[in-house]
Amino acid sequence: MRAVVAGAAGFIGSHLVDRMLEMGWEVVGVDNLLTGSRANLAHLAGHPRFRLVEQDVCRPVEILGPVDRVLHLASAASPVDFSRFPVEILMAGTVGTRNLLELAAAKGARFLLASTSEVYGDPLVHPQPEDYRGNVDPTGPRGCYDEAKRCAEAFTMAYHRTRGVETRIVRIFNTYGPRTRVDDGRVVPNFVLQALRQQPLTVYGDGSQTRSLCYVDDLVSGLLAALESPEPMPFNLGTEQEITVLELARLVRQLSGSTSEITFRPLPPGDPLRRRPDLSRARTLLGWEPRVSLQEGLRRTLDHFRSVLS
Ligand code: UDP
Repeated sequence: MRAVVAGAAGFIGSHLVDRMLEMGWEVVGVDNLLTGSRANLAHLAGHPRFRLVEQDVCRPVEILGPVDRVLHLASAASPVDFSRFPVEILMAGTVGTRNLLELAAAKGARFLLASTSEVYGDPLVHPQPEDYRGNVDPTGPRGCYDEAKRCAEAFTMAYHRTRGVETRIVRIFNTYGPRTRVDDGRVVPNFVLQALRQQPLTVYGDGSQTRSLCYVDDLVSGLLAALESPEPMPFNLGTEQEITVLELARLVRQLSGSTSEITFRPLPPGDPLRRRPDLSRARTLLGWEPRVSLQEGLRRTLDHFRSVLS
């Protein structure tokens, strides 16, 4: 099996590449290193079944030889990136998706889109099933990401329906684990790093907003299950264990043994109040279930960042 993974140097992409190589696949990674990092792939230097092509997916992606699978995980994805890289995000979701679908069409490869829970926006239905159509503000601060991914899903379905490409879509909910950037800005890397540095943990708003956090190894298993399933309609991937941001801050502080205080900062505009996937579809059709508890996943993440900081 030969796969092209766009976004291979990113947080989820690099874990996915590792798993594919363990499964005996050959992998060509594509990444422009805007938010991805070569360090995430440094352990694969000289690997006989892996190579990285440094390029932007917004330019046509040309790969020599046969390709069986094309996976599109290339996008800046942290809310702090939405104000830094809005145009790059829109381009990766639209032009980048089209280019990778063209590659899949040319090679007769199956295509998987890494979409997002952000297609549901600030949801009015809880938990969110795949047939919920969302509550997105196109002109708000998250519009660049939400609409790029919604357009990416529409592109994917168009190629599926009219261009004969076998396609799969996964909607990824909050995911955490080793290899997020130190300056990523998302809640788990922020709290973990603040706790380890004995700095105040910055809770935005009153911390009553919720998220459901999935450990990256579980997410990768779900991605591959969706990729190898016969089902073209989207799958939610995440966990159903919902936690408030304030509870999360307390848990990270407790697990790390940190004496950091918890401080409160203004809630960023457009920050969704509640988020939890309905996983019935993935459970029934993929037989997939997240297995790593939040405590265990946070312990592994703390261990990783301790070694990064030391
Ligand atoms: N958050 C926080 N402190 C931080 C970073 C994030 O309280 O240092 C909150 C943020 O306001 C949001 C939640 O944690 O409600 C998850 O934020 P994240 O940036 O991880 O991703 P999102 O789910 O908002 O896309």
